[in-house]
Formats: sequence, structure tokens, C-alpha cells
Amino acid sequence: MNVTALARPEIVAMQPYASARSEAPGQGVLLNANEAPRPLLTGLDSGPGLHRYPEPQPQELVARLAERYAVPRDCVLVTRGSDEGIDLLTRVFCRAGRDAVVQCPPTFGMYRIAACIQGADIVSVARDPARRFAMDEPAVLAAVARDDRVRLIFLTSPNNPTGDLVREDFLQKLLTAAAGRALVVLDEAYAEFCAQPSATRLIEAHENLVVLRTLSKAWASAGLRCGVVLAQPSVIGLLRRVIAPYPLATPIIALALRTLDDGMRERQARLIEEIARNKKALIELLENRTFVNELIAGEANFVLLRVNDARALLRYCADRGVILRGFATDPELQDCLRISVGSAADQAALAQALDAWENER
Ligand code: PMP
Repeated sequence: MNVTALARPEIVAMQPYASARSEAPGQGVLLNANEAPRPLLTGLDSGPGLHRYPEPQPQELVARLAERYAVPRDCVLVTRGSDEGIDLLTRVFCRAGRDAVVQCPPTFGMYRIAACIQGADIVSVARDPARRFAMDEPAVLAAVARDDRVRLIFLTSPNNPTGDLVREDFLQKLLTAAAGRALVVLDEAYAEFCAQPSATRLIEAHENLVVLRTLSKAWASAGLRCGVVLAQPSVIGLLRRVIAPYPLATPIIALALRTLDDGMRERQARLIEEIARNKKALIELLENRTFVNELIAGEANFVLLRVNDARALLRYCADRGVILRGFATDPELQDCLRISVGSAADQAALAQALDAWENER
């Protein structure tokens, strides 16, 4: 298959913007980018100095991410969070008013938003609320077979907010069924919290597989806004036509490199263990509550609850300074709350609010 045939023809035909830094490396006497000759703000611990544009795709960071995710370097695109990866994919592969994306709600909201902004149609294959929101695999396959407008199929493993995983044999089946028709975008934002191996090793064999990763969750760096698109170079090349010329700021590149340093591996492992321990404690503090009708623990760093009077409970906790996630505009999640795994102190505050709520009922 050739994914270029699935991209918007105007993106393929466009002469991409050639930025100063992409045309010539940032070394030598630099008189090609209308930069200032010296920075005002000095003392940054690395990088070329703030007066210079950063590398469009910083080589060292790309190399480190490629190593972490076990893919070749030309399979990596670094983005401003996975949010940007979702946006780029939608803009490259969906023609406004003609093409469509598949999503399986309840799921992460940005697939729908990116499609809306781009003017792509949204084919929603609903999950089953009676089966802990299990994905309807045959219906996803049927939607792709039936509808030749579909260009992107967004799957999430573990899914937000239900925490369930995409089964690998289903993924394989879908990749084969969608070959030549659509790309399968597997969002692995929470993958480090689950035991299932990443799908990145399938990229080599499947040109229509895209895996999204992020430093926002298990790397504890949501503030960096650093995400990663992993796919074959043909897909990465198309996305590079659309991404801003200098998406990553110099200080962010330096901080991302420090975060991914070998010396941080041990720290990250301890953080993931701590989150697993705290998740156990969170489940214990939620089990057997009178107002909890269902607890969906899932495989990520949050749990989903079905409760009586979700909206009132959300407000009650907020009034006590404990902020949970409600889903006011999501019809299928009206009685649900999502709770992120926090620190022991966060969870003690949560327990106190829930005790008070229970006692007042
Ligand atoms: N994918 C999923 C499934 C998410 O839940 C989130 C954030 N909540 C994102 C992507 C966005 O991540 P980032 O911070 O990398 O933009």
C-alpha cells in the first residue's frame, strides 16, 4: 500500500515551506534567518542560544525517542503533545466535507474536535455501557468495510476514560482490513501503565499503522507539551509538510532531553510503581461505597466510576477542593466520574470528601 494515495492531494502536491534551519544546519556564520546576533536572555544550560531558531526536528531528541520506542529515527516525529499529532493526521488525511474518521466513544475527545475543525465527518462506533464500555470490534471492522470515506481509525490503548486495551489480534485484523483504505491510529498515551507490549513493533510491517506516545503521563511532563508520532517514513514525511516550521522551543528540547536521560529511567520506574500502589489504594477507598454502582479500574492511571447523582457529587468534592472529572456533555457518561491516581495526600483528601458525602446521605 502507498499511504500517499490516502493523503489530501493538495498536501501531496504542495511545495513544502523550506525554513532557514531546514535548508542549512545551525552552524557557521549564520546570516540566513533574520535572527539577532546575540541573545538578551542568557544562561540557558544547553541549546544554540535563544536568539537562534531551534532545529525543526531536534536530532538528539529524535534519536533518544527512537531508542526508547525501539523504532528507526526516520519513523519519529516530535510534536507539541499528542494533541498536535492528532491534529496533523486529521489535516493531512481528511478532505473537508468528503472524508471521515472512526472513533469509539466514550473515548478521548480530541479525535472528534480535530475532525470537526477539519470538516471531516465522524463515524462513531459506540462502546457497550452494559459491558464495561467494551469496544464493538465487529462494528469497527464493518464501518471501515462499508464506508470508503474513512481515512483514519482512532483507537486508544489503554482507552481514556474506560482504561481497557485494544487486543492485538483485533489490531492486526483491522490493519489488514484497512490496508489501502485508511490509517489505524493507535493512541498509546497511557501505555507505560499497562503490561501489554507497545504496537510500535508492528510499524515495520504496516504502512497504515500510526502509534501516538507522549511525555505527558508516565514521564510526568504534561507541562512540556511533548508528544511523539511513530509511523513509517512515508507517513512522517507527509506530516512534516504540515507541522509548523519550528514546533519545539529550545528550552523545551533541553528539558525533554533531560527527562529522557538514562539516569532518569530508575526514577521513572519508581514513579510508575508508586502510581500502581496508589491506584490499588484508590480502588480500596472507592470499593464498597454506598453511592458507587460500578468501578471500572482499567489499565491506566485513572479509574471510572458509575455513581448516583454524579453531578452533585462532582460539585460536592469541588466545594471541598477535590477536583474530579465529570462528563456533563457526554450522553453515555452522565452517571460517571473519572478519578486520576494522585499522591497519598491527594487521595486522603478525596477519602475525606467521600466520607462526608456518604455520611450526609
Ligand atoms: N491521548 C489520550 C488518550 C489522552 O488521554 C490525552 C490527554 N488526556 C492525550 C492523548 C493528549 O496528550 P498530550 O498531553 O500529549 O497532548
